[in-house]
Amino acid sequence: MSEARIPYALDPQGRRVDIYRAEHKLNYYTCIACGSFLDPRQGEVNIWYFAHVKLDPTSEECPLRTKEGLENLLQRFRISPVEESELKKQIRLVISPNPYIKTAKLYGILPVLRWENFADPTEVNDVLNSLIFHGIGIKSSLPARIFHPSEPEAKVELDPNADKYELTISTKYSKYESLDLIGNWKAKHISVNDVFSGESNRAERRGINTRVRTGDTLFIVLEEDFLMEIEGCENIVLGPWKILKFEVDDNHRELVNRFIGINADTDNFYVDIILPPPATPNSESPISGKPESEALIAVTPPQQKDPEFEIVSVPLGEENKILDRKGNGVPRIFCPRFPSEGSRRLSVHWGNEHRVINLHAENRMKSLYKPWMGDVELGLELITDGKITKFNPWSVEGAILIESEKVIENRINLNLIGPEELKIDVKGTFSEESEYRGIVHKWDTTLEEAESILDSWIKEDCNHIMLDYDSLGRIELDIQQPKPWQKKLSDREIERRLKNLDEIPKKARWSVVREVYGVPWGTSRDEVPDGAKKQVRRALMKLRRGNEG
Ligand SMILES: [Zn+2]
Repeated sequence: MSEARIPYALDPQGRRVDIYRAEHKLNYYTCIACGSFLDPRQGEVNIWYFAHVKLDPTSEECPLRTKEGLENLLQRFRISPVEESELKKQIRLVISPNPYIKTAKLYGILPVLRWENFADPTEVNDVLNSLIFHGIGIKSSLPARIFHPSEPEAKVELDPNADKYELTISTKYSKYESLDLIGNWKAKHISVNDVFSGESNRAERRGINTRVRTGDTLFIVLEEDFLMEIEGCENIVLGPWKILKFEVDDNHRELVNRFIGINADTDNFYVDIILPPPATPNSESPISGKPESEALIAVTPPQQKDPEFEIVSVPLGEENKILDRKGNGVPRIFCPRFPSEGSRRLSVHWGNEHRVINLHAENRMKSLYKPWMGDVELGLELITDGKITKFNPWSVEGAILIESEKVIENRINLNLIGPEELKIDVKGTFSEESEYRGIVHKWDTTLEEAESILDSWIKEDCNHIMLDYDSLGRIELDIQQPKPWQKKLSDREIERRLKNLDEIPKKARWSVVREVYGVPWGTSRDEVPDGAKKQVRRALMKLRRGNEG
């Protein structure tokens, strides 16, 4: 009989150890099921595993010796921490900083209703209308629609002062009581040394055995501001708490060791979302994409390891795919599909560690929304004849039409609004006739600089301007430039053009004005600038005087 390939064992302290993190020690690790010794088999080529020591007579009985028994064990480890916390009705805590005012908000994350749970999709509204909420530590009243299955997750703002968080969700109809969402959801209050890890704009509270990876952003809860001046560290306020924020990298290794219980083990795997392009590569927040399109995801093992990664659905279901081994540290690629509606959650896991990806079928422009946006005034203010219209980069659809004439006449004013620190990129597309010709880029400009660039470009034959507000979105301007014949010509230019005609005309007729200004046939004479005819007449008189004298 071939040996069962057991990927986990217990160390002498009773902690679960994955074979790829195990040291090569004999008579050291023990079996999770029967307690007898397991030896690590860590060959050059094959998949690594633990095996029962052959001579141990007690190990004969072990359930892990059978395929079925081993499969039962593996199935337990396929459950992601996200699913585990949902099974236990734990609210996941997420911190979301506002980069401009150095404060953060605290959110509780709960799952939404799932389409699979309804035979008839029209029932969804019935359920939502039946929900009753009772909360402790929750900042505002909850609209039931945040639990709609088309949402990627339900986000509830929490009071960082609270001494506990509880959300009891019940329903008026007993037939819905078995839904996963119904019940008493809880989370522990915030306390000193809580660790949140994740991205710079969203990080989740982790347990004590958190593993951090290079590139993760950490948020440590403190009572006082962290006073040591270390580059790249920031102090942020969360209600009564001070939060120290920094990125896990070589410069901050000591800080990581100081605040996180375990060794700063950065020997971890990465799940990078390559497509769709707007997704943050390491994102744990929901990723929006076109319904039924494919995402492209790379799973990269640590440098000297070549484990087998599994992809499972959250909650655990039929999905169970193994990514082929490609060699030490070599990325594995897979292309899951976005669902047609709602969310599809997958977990990439290896041993105990899971990385959950939430693929969310996009609806409208919501994908760009960041929770702190509500607090920040940002965008473009368009003042037309005294009337103000505001455009936000994350909600504006299509290009805004601007007539350059009106800007020149000061009937339109453009103001850029936003925090002082904000930098934006400005891209202008110019006509071939203009001095700039083609596309001009100005990177990282301040709002003030961008405003004056905008003003001068609009006056200088620019046809299209794009304002890129970092990752928040864009505002596009389509600029209507006057046609060549609509621009006032100088007296000298009119003389030059008259001289170039086959024959200098005798009188300043409209046909002459049209010819001088290059007005196409069929265009109304109103399009020619005011006073053009007088100008032509004057120029003609001057030319004639010159010829006579
Ligand atoms: Zn055993």
